[in-house]
Amino acid sequence: MSDRNQARAVFLGGPGAGKGTQAKRLSESFVFAHISTGDMLRSQVAKCTDLGNQAKILMDQGKLVSDELIVAMVKDRIAEPDAKGGWILDGFPRTLPQAVALDRLLGASKSLQVTHVVYFRIADGVLELRLSGRRNCSKCGAIWHVANKPTCKDGVCDLCGGVLVHRADDRPEAIQKRLQDFHAITAGPLHTYYKNQGVLREVDANRSQEVIYQELVQLMQ
Ligand code: AMP
Repeated sequence: MSDRNQARAVFLGGPGAGKGTQAKRLSESFVFAHISTGDMLRSQVAKCTDLGNQAKILMDQGKLVSDELIVAMVKDRIAEPDAKGGWILDGFPRTLPQAVALDRLLGASKSLQVTHVVYFRIADGVLELRLSGRRNCSKCGAIWHVANKPTCKDGVCDLCGGVLVHRADDRPEAIQKRLQDFHAITAGPLHTYYKNQGVLREVDANRSQEVIYQELVQLMQ
């Protein structure tokens, strides 16, 4: 890709693999829209909309929300003005039907197809440790970790003073379910799907955020 701002990228990887962190930084540096279906759903949950109330029950158990609902949400989101110049999808597609639906949404035109699919490879054991210790600021969204990135004061965000929360789906039973689904429903089918399209790249996601970021910048050229 000669113009990074025209990237239409999909970040694939298990929960906690670092897709969101990297997508956020890249979107700020290169003016992509960072589209996280998990964040979109959490915002609906916070607003107690009908969609949010329905999704919350599934999300808290680490289960996937229906393809129809997610695809409709993404369809509207990629039509928004800030997505015109390019986007990174974080957490979508997560099933083969979602990947097929995305290609349909983008249309037959080659100039609008997905340009990059990056698979964040990392062992489940590392993800379990990352997720079980992860704490999210309820106010500014900053992500902390009880062992790897602790705040000065327990339970309080260093950046904004907001209260830190432990996501229900970052608790052990939900983590297991999310990892199982990731391998069976997401990684297996989508790795093959995008490999066959010739757009799949892999990064070793068990390295420092900075090293991975620099690799992604190169990879997305
Ligand atoms: P995430 O923040 O990406 O880990 O997503 C949190 C939760 O939102 C997931 O465990 C699912 O319940 C739901 N979710 C997010 N994206 C999708 C998707 N593409 N398909 C189905 N469910 C999703």
